[in-house]
Amino acid sequence: MNADAWRVEMKGPTYVDWAITSACNLNCRHCVGMNKDELNHREAARAAENIVGLSPRWVILEGGEPVLRDDLSVISYTIITSAR
Ligand code: SF4
Repeated sequence: MNADAWRVEMKGPTYVDWAITSACNLNCRHCVGMNKDELNHREAARAAENIVGLSPRWVILEGGEPVLRDDLSVISYTIITSAR
């Protein structure tokens, strides 16, 4: 088989795994010492736009507990509707 048959043209990273918040209802040892600074909405929206600009195949939003962010739906919507 031709080796080129296995080549895949990648426009960007396979995925971006974004810890969109460090806030959480729990306090596990795993997260002790984690930076507790949070992006404000404007900063998060800009980060979302930058992530979309990378053209990843997947974007994973994690934390912390991502649903604790009030703007999670807006940020998710930005990523979903901006994806190419
Ligand atoms: S993010 Fe996960 S590991 Fe960290 S405190 Fe919350 S549940 Fe525990």
